[in-house]
Amino acid sequence: MRLKAVVGNWKLNGSLASNEALLKALLREVPREAPAACAVCVPSPYLAQAGQLLTGSGIGWGSQDVSRFDKGAYTGELAAGMVAEFGARYAIVGHSERRTLFGDTDAVVAEKYAAARRAKLTPIFCVGETLQEREQGLTEAVLARQVDALLDKCGVKELDGGIVAYEPVWAIGTGRTATSAQAQEAHAFIRGRVAAKDGKVAERLPILYGGSVKASNATELFSMPDVDGGLVGGASLVAEEFVAIWRAAVAQVEKGR
Ligand code: PEP
Repeated sequence: MRLKAVVGNWKLNGSLASNEALLKALLREVPREAPAACAVCVPSPYLAQAGQLLTGSGIGWGSQDVSRFDKGAYTGELAAGMVAEFGARYAIVGHSERRTLFGDTDAVVAEKYAAARRAKLTPIFCVGETLQEREQGLTEAVLARQVDALLDKCGVKELDGGIVAYEPVWAIGTGRTATSAQAQEAHAFIRGRVAAKDGKVAERLPILYGGSVKASNATELFSMPDVDGGLVGGASLVAEEFVAIWRAAVAQVEKGR
């Protein structure tokens, strides 16, 4: 069975006090041996706090980006090895906000994925089309371009250590969730693209859906055969909501898928 996971992306939100309250609330609900992975990707100054509160628990933590460089004269960058030193397991790369607001190209995202792997982190590689691209019938072409850039740079075997997140840009932070059929179609396409290189890697690859996931739509989305959980922005800041989304992934594992 493939890993099922629910990962929170806090984006640029939090404070020492509010993080502590949120993480303690999650710790009350998520057991050490959880059937579906649960993790939070925090702003990098809070990696140490996440490590202090979550070490030894069933909740993993990670960063929201990493540099493509391991070290050197790159002011403001965050090396994957530094993230790993704080006990983090995950690093998001290629989030659409990084791609659109901060200029991360497909090639840069692939380099960031490789940097995360060098540091033994599990990269969460985000892909997804804009509304305009969907309306122009370009969804598959965009996903193919984004996935191929990673396959070309890193090779398909490197996907064995990673997670993909399909995040249609039009669904992120908008309250407009993809239908379960739209998510399934995109996930199956991504898996097929990887399978064309290596069927076994594709079969093992967790593909999360992201874009306005809430407790009220998680069960339907996660019941799709190629949807292996969620990458959750806004709803990950509310403990009850995030736990309910994680429980929806647990329920799928308990159903045997
Ligand atoms: C995200 O930031 O990755 C995301 C999916 O955000 P939201 O859940 O708020 O749409």
